[in-house]
Amino acid sequence: MKKQVGEITMEAVHGDITSQPDMTAVVNAANAQLSPGGGVAGAIHRAAGPGLAEECLPMAPIEPGQAVISGGHNLPNKYVIHCLGPVYGKDKPENLLLADCYRNALRLADEKEIDSVAFPAISTGIFGYPFEAATDITLQTVQEVLPELKFVNHIRFVLFGEEDFEVYVERLRRLKI
Ligand code: ADP
Repeated sequence: MKKQVGEITMEAVHGDITSQPDMTAVVNAANAQLSPGGGVAGAIHRAAGPGLAEECLPMAPIEPGQAVISGGHNLPNKYVIHCLGPVYGKDKPENLLLADCYRNALRLADEKEIDSVAFPAISTGIFGYPFEAATDITLQTVQEVLPELKFVNHIRFVLFGEEDFEVYVERLRRLKI
């Protein structure tokens, strides 16, 4: 499912964040220590190899809402942008912190002159953010940042679950831009 917004393509796919070879950067739903862990972070570190954790070590810890960038190592992508999402019910205000993740990741990508970025659904796994609420914040924030972007022209949301993918398809269809 693709949505064209001016020069920028927004897209939802059902898949794995580590299998997006046509994207210049993938986003990691990181932990504060930027270490492997579970979920997206586990998958990204497994696919990237130990060089990723080594490169990230001096940048840790990061704060909720923050984004930092590293190389892609053995991933098919040139860069990994690591975002720490809010833990639902703990890091407050969680909606603003989640919005910060997407805003900061896109701004960082644009600063690095990156053309394409794939996001997982940050905070909706182990961190417990209700999926539909997180999706609304994500799409709202991305929409707000789009006019600032000079280099990013392709934003992909990679959803692991079929139902999660359907939520994005429905929301993207309804998006009025
Ligand atoms: P967080 O700790 O920020 O909640 P998780 O990694 O636990 O991050 O999960 C974030 C979202 O990513 C969840 O919706 C989960 O289903 C999904 N997910 C888990 N593994 C992958 C993967 N390999 N590729 C894409 N999405 C994934």
